[in-house]
Amino acid sequence: MAPGKTLLDKVWDPHSVRQLESGQTQLFIGLHLVHEVTSPQAFAMLRELDLPVRYPDRTFATVDHIIPTENQSRPLADSLAEEMLVALEKNTRDTGITLFDPASGKQGIVHVIGPEMGLTQPGMTIACGDSHTSTHGAFGAVALGIGTSQVRDVLATQCLAIGRPDVRRIEVTGKLAPGVYAKDVTLAIIRHLGVKGGVGYAYEYAGPVIDAMSIEERLTVCNMSIEGGARCGYINPDDTTIEYLRGREYAPQGEAWDRAVTHWRSVASDADAHYADKVVLDGGDLAPVVTWGINPGQSVGVDERLPRLADAGAEDRAQLAEAFDYMGLTSGEPIAGTEVDVCFVGSCTNGRISDLREAARVAQTGKVAQGVKAIVVPGSQAVARQAEEEGLPEVFRSAGFEWRLAGCSMCLAMNPDKLVGRQISASSSNRNFKGRQGSPTGRTLLMSPAMVVAAALKGKVTDVREVL
Ligand code: SF4
Repeated sequence: MAPGKTLLDKVWDPHSVRQLESGQTQLFIGLHLVHEVTSPQAFAMLRELDLPVRYPDRTFATVDHIIPTENQSRPLADSLAEEMLVALEKNTRDTGITLFDPASGKQGIVHVIGPEMGLTQPGMTIACGDSHTSTHGAFGAVALGIGTSQVRDVLATQCLAIGRPDVRRIEVTGKLAPGVYAKDVTLAIIRHLGVKGGVGYAYEYAGPVIDAMSIEERLTVCNMSIEGGARCGYINPDDTTIEYLRGREYAPQGEAWDRAVTHWRSVASDADAHYADKVVLDGGDLAPVVTWGINPGQSVGVDERLPRLADAGAEDRAQLAEAFDYMGLTSGEPIAGTEVDVCFVGSCTNGRISDLREAARVAQTGKVAQGVKAIVVPGSQAVARQAEEEGLPEVFRSAGFEWRLAGCSMCLAMNPDKLVGRQISASSSNRNFKGRQGSPTGRTLLMSPAMVVAAALKGKVTDVREVL
């Protein structure tokens, strides 16, 4: 008897238009999300070819990367940012695409607003000109980050030419200890499998730890699939997924809801599905994780020491030495106690309301250390409104944090929120590449939002379990 199917099989096959000679699939894309950075050239190419947008009703746009988080009044202070926003407004207006701009009250980071409005649904194929599109897999969607020329292809044809990945099932067993979060799980997976370990794979996350997670936590896990090299990552839809979607603006209603729920449940992987690979991690073993190097795989538990160069094999040694040299950290030293200059809570990894609630819970325990700049940036205007209703900005402000407007902020620093010089930041974002946060020599330590706040209060990397 043939083995059962994975979710990837069940979503991929019905969206497959045809097999291309290259071996790739021409894959129909159910939902296309667009932002201001990777779309202007794609729209320009469409204009040159005199092509319309094939399915404007399946395409939604927002502004996130370049939007300032202190003052969003128009025209934006940075003329280049203003130009990019004007171009997005014109392109979406001319093509009939819905744009969620700051005036809409629905603006935010593309991977925050899609889920919160119910645009992201199980069984969908989703594409966006942004690496962290894998985030949407949390709902049981096949969500693919694409480049600018592929944005053009999807705008023009609603299809992508793409190779089909194999599926690796990653089971996280046990139960997370207090102070250990979804961010720690995803960083631990990347540490275990490596930043290139997922090349050629879709990651299917499963097991008791994943099952127990809220949708927001699952979004955090799937967000970083790409940092482990995977083409995408997903979690099978279950009751948690369905309850999250109920009543959301773009979720089906009435009879359509019942039909959708039946379909959503049917796309989950079969119990006897075949996987190209299976990996098991014990979630009960995990401590809060902190990156120390220049890729998200270079991390340690907060209670561990940095790797010792002398113990590294010849292959790894050069990479480790480069990371130590850039970061100015010493091989074999504990990560706890590393002093930080800037603390950033936000991004599409950890800028949701549950992240901010947990960050506020830690912020209540003290004051930001002298000399540390600490900012909290909601992932969307809806997150900001919810946080305001719950009084979170006040909690942050009284602890010495700045409360900002929604945007990508310091994650990529294509806006005024940047590190300066050799500053070192504790960041709840997803990339710690050289220069990622706006200064060519700036340094990033990735960790959970609760750990970022603990670092802000103490002025150094601190085990949040000691603060709570
Ligand atoms: S928050 Fe960072 S990773 Fe996410 S979409 Fe914005 S720049 Fe990209």
